[in-house]
Amino acid sequence: MKTKIRNNIFFKYLRECKIQKFKFFFVFFLLCINFNSALATSFFSASTLLKNIINKDDPTTYKDLIFIKKEVNKNFDKRYGNEMYVATFFIFEAKYEFGKDVEIWVNSEFGSHENIAEIALKYSKMLGKVPSFFREELKWVVIHGPWVDKSKCTCHWYAFRNEGVYIHTKMVNEEAQQEVLIHELAHVTIDSLYYNSANEIIWTNAQKQDAKSISRYAESNPLVEDIAESVVAWVAVRCKRDRISKKKYKMIIKTIPNRLIVLDDLIFGNPVYPLTCKK
Ligand SMILES: [Zn+2]
Repeated sequence: MKTKIRNNIFFKYLRECKIQKFKFFFVFFLLCINFNSALATSFFSASTLLKNIINKDDPTTYKDLIFIKKEVNKNFDKRYGNEMYVATFFIFEAKYEFGKDVEIWVNSEFGSHENIAEIALKYSKMLGKVPSFFREELKWVVIHGPWVDKSKCTCHWYAFRNEGVYIHTKMVNEEAQQEVLIHELAHVTIDSLYYNSANEIIWTNAQKQDAKSISRYAESNPLVEDIAESVVAWVAVRCKRDRISKKKYKMIIKTIPNRLIVLDDLIFGNPVYPLTCKK
């Protein structure tokens, strides 16, 4: 025989219990959202947030490319692990309307002389599209070529502070290459003005005041990647506002306002040509 529970008090209790449980999980859910958004935007990196903010239509200060020599050299690659390895490079000197010359080292694996020259020219022109201040500390760029085994490669584009940049042409999609280049040049020229310097407090104070980071990559590496990531966002909102959506513009301005002010103080005191930038 079935027993029917007709006790209204019991049902009321059950209902309230469920509501309480729901309230608890809802509040917990909100806390989770707030907790996450307090750390970083949902974008992995600035170059996933911002693509093609500088594109093929933009002017370059690139002036000339001169072939210097062919040289066998031991160099970093990372397609074969962390070891340096020996390769033959074609070395060029890229000249610009403003700023110092840059050595462009192209790995001979690109094949024909035409291909090698084309690669040297492509990246020399891209270097001329960023504010000339960003190249101030740049001495060389090493360009590696096609994949040997993509699955085994941990390589990316990367930079040595006050030195140079490594490019793996196939590692970054075309639409994000100019933005990743800005990121790497920020490592070369801007990092050491704050990180591990007397001015580090200026950056870390801005980080604290902002509370959020522009990307998860910046948030996970606040004393290595945050400046480079924020500089890409700075270029977007100060120089290429017409190439990003209003939503992205507002998000950047709200997310890292104090970091943007620090970068304003630095970058506007230096040449930004060929870009036109304003606060
Ligand atoms: Zn980086």
